[in-house]
Parts: sequence; structure tokens; C-alpha cells
Amino acid sequence: MADRDGKIWIDGELVDWRDAKIHVLTHTLHYGCGAFEGVRAYNTAQGTAIFRLREHTERLFNSAKILRMKLPYTVEQVMDAQKEVVRVNKLESCYIRPLTWIGSEKLGVSPKGNTIHLMIAAWSWGAYLGEEGLKRGIRVKTSSYTRHHVNITMTQAKTVSNYTNSILANMEATDDGYDEAMLLDASGFVSEGAGENLFIIKNGVVYTPDLSAGALNGITRNTIFAICADLGLKIVEKRITRDEVYIADEAFFTGTAAEVTPIRELDRIEIGAGQRGPVTEKIQSAFFDIVNGRNGKYAEWLSKV
Ligand code: PMP
Repeated sequence: MADRDGKIWIDGELVDWRDAKIHVLTHTLHYGCGAFEGVRAYNTAQGTAIFRLREHTERLFNSAKILRMKLPYTVEQVMDAQKEVVRVNKLESCYIRPLTWIGSEKLGVSPKGNTIHLMIAAWSWGAYLGEEGLKRGIRVKTSSYTRHHVNITMTQAKTVSNYTNSILANMEATDDGYDEAMLLDASGFVSEGAGENLFIIKNGVVYTPDLSAGALNGITRNTIFAICADLGLKIVEKRITRDEVYIADEAFFTGTAAEVTPIRELDRIEIGAGQRGPVTEKIQSAFFDIVNGRNGKYAEWLSKV
């Protein structure tokens, strides 16, 4: 990935992709205290536009705040920088990755006094869990790894270090032949996927774990709330057990990368009819209408680059 043409924004400068390097004594590389975002731009009829840019940028600032890292920019500057990265790389639809890290001035555990950096890269990235997965649904395994407890590394921050847990869960599940992992919280209740929020549908009602289960407050999750209101679907945040997922009529994952991906099996147990369910299909289709600029009601969620 390092060897390609293009520009990456680093600390206010556009740097050639191949020269976008940092020192091996970078504090974040050693201790994992850093935060990032995953953002998508879509090629809408009105031109390339970034979906919910402000919300993603504000979450990045909140993640940094939780980590006691003071970003030396304003939200507006970071929003403009993301648009600039999409423009200069001439991308029509893409994934955008802002990441903030602590510099290499000194390497004790305390990063006090070290510099804070920000980079923004963007590249083309299709369906995270596969085009086929979007249509047919994916196969998921309950992870043997527990999702972070809310008082360990902070679950409302999208931190670099939180993803070790996601990587372990995803590798275990994919090594076992599944597409993705579902993690339970420290009390055994459903939390989220390795990189996605989870929803189930039972008797026409949509349920998702409340955030006390350690799930990230997903921006796609929030978009689903708006879609359900539009479709007249009741949505409930509550504690969910893994067997509630087994006997749900439908289930799906959401995320910026994963978009709305149906789940057809959990732990080799078919969910509902073992395919993308009709309610999921409606929600998915409404989601793609919104992100692709086909629903005027949500025009303000799309920032043209
Ligand atoms: N949970 C985790 C662990 C994630 O990595 C993501 C992706 N950012 C999500 C949930 C979904 O968040 P969003 O919809 O904001 O991308």
C-alpha cells in the first residue's frame, strides 16, 4: 500500500504517498495511544461528496479529547483537509483515513510534552465484506475474545489500541472460515462486530445493543436510526444475548466500511431464512439512496468536495 502514486496530508502539508513516513520511535507505534476515523466519499449525482463529514470529524476530536491529546487544528480545518485529499487524489468514491498520533520526542509511557500529529489518506475501497456479502449476507462467529470493558481503554474513542481486540477476533473468525466476528461484552451480552455495529430484527422491531455494551457510537448506526424513523420501524437499544441473535428474524452489521451488510448465520446457526431479510433489504436500500445523494431529506449529510 505504501508504494503508489498520490498525496497524503501530513500536519498541513500534502506529501508524496511514498514519502509519507514517520520515525520508528513514534510514541503511538510503541504504546498504541492514537485515534483515527474511517470516512467514505460517494460518487453522487451531484458530484463526489463525503458522507457525514462533520460527525466523523467531531468524533475524531472527541476520541483525541478522551485520550488527552490536543489536536492543533479546528474541526473546520480538518474537514477542509479531508476534502482536499479526495480532490488532489482525483478520487470519485473512496475511503478516507484520518489518524492522529503522538510524536517521537521521548518514549516514556507518559507522552506529556510530545507533539501531536495528524495525517489524512484516501483511496478507493469497495465493499468491505464483499459485494456478495451485501446481497447474500455473511457468516459470523461469536468471538472467544471479549470486547473491551467500558472502563479500560475507553470505548467511545476510536483508538488505535482498541483494534488489537478487533484484529484478534477477526483473525480467529476468518481462520475458522467465517467472514467476521461478533464480540460479547465482559458480562456476556452482545457488543458489536470487529469493525461494525450490530442490529437484529424480531417481529418487525429493530434492536441494537445499547452503548454500555462497549460498542462504538457508530455514525452508520445513527443513520439507521433515522432510516427506521422514516420507514416507520420501531427501534430499541437494549442488552442483547447471543441466543437472541440466533432466533432473530434478520440481522445485519453497519459501519462506514461495511455499510449495511446482512448476517445470514451466527455460529453455523441460520438467522431467519439464512439470507438477506426483507426489512434489512429496505434499510439497506434506503441507506444507499442517502449516501449516493438520492434522498433530498439528507442532502446536508453530504459534503461536496
Ligand atoms: N464498531 C467498530 C469497532 C468499528 O470499527 C466501526 C467502524 N468505524 C463501527 C462500529 C461503525 O462505526 P461507523 O458507522 O461510525 O463507521
